[in-house]
Amino acid sequence: MALPELESAPVAARTQNCSDGGRRPLAIVLFGSPGSGKGTQSKFLVRWLGIPQISTGDMLREHVRNGTAIGTSIAARMKAGELVPDRLVNELVFERLSRPDCERGFILDGYPRTPEQAAEMKRALGASGTTEVVIHLLVDYNVIIARMAGRRVCPKCGTLYNAISNRPAKEGVCDLDGETLVVREDDRPEVVRARLNEYEALTRPVIDFFRRSGVKMFEENASDYTPQEIFEKIRVDLADLTERGLTELVGK
Ligand code: ADP
Repeated sequence: MALPELESAPVAARTQNCSDGGRRPLAIVLFGSPGSGKGTQSKFLVRWLGIPQISTGDMLREHVRNGTAIGTSIAARMKAGELVPDRLVNELVFERLSRPDCERGFILDGYPRTPEQAAEMKRALGASGTTEVVIHLLVDYNVIIARMAGRRVCPKCGTLYNAISNRPAKEGVCDLDGETLVVREDDRPEVVRARLNEYEALTRPVIDFFRRSGVKMFEENASDYTPQEIFEKIRVDLADLTERGLTELVGK
């Protein structure tokens, strides 16, 4: 996907100074239903802040593609649009977060997705002194169905395109590597319905968990604006994070 030019150059994320002289990483949780634009906003944030995107969907799909033992055990569930077991996802995420590129902060895309995952995340991030903030992307279901119907993916590099808002330069071909675009297995209409049902039953309750546990959360209307406009709103949200603003938190 072609990213828009930002008015400021990407910034290297630095961490917040703690009173004990330690460093506080920043965890940005992008939360929302399938098709709400979490992946798109993650990419904007990566470019702005210079911290990595941790997408559990991408990590799990890679296991399936590579035919690992994990991949084999979850392939059927993923194909059907069902969530994979909490323990497995938690392990994958925490292994990923232990790598050096996450030291200053990271963007969680598609995690946590159940109250159990959220509780585990809160415990682990609390223990490491990480500052958490949730961005909740709210999208009308009719908009989601329309978006997912027009969604195409590059089977080689995983880049997503959309017939309405994010077309490739050449119809049906990936801008980055020239590969022929395909419909993702779980973007077929009947599977999209299953994913939305899973979201309602298992993932929506995570919002209550965030509210109860006092995690800082911003809600954005992600139906009626362009991806770029939504990103501008997120930037404003994040600048509000501390009284001194984001500059203090990640360094500019
Ligand atoms: P979307 O958010 O559009 O549904 P993702 O790429 O985030 O797509 O997820 C694709 C699939 O990967 C999900 O339908 C589910 O099977 C699995 N998955 C991703 N993240 C999680 C998670 N945190 N917990 C359990 N299953 C997950």
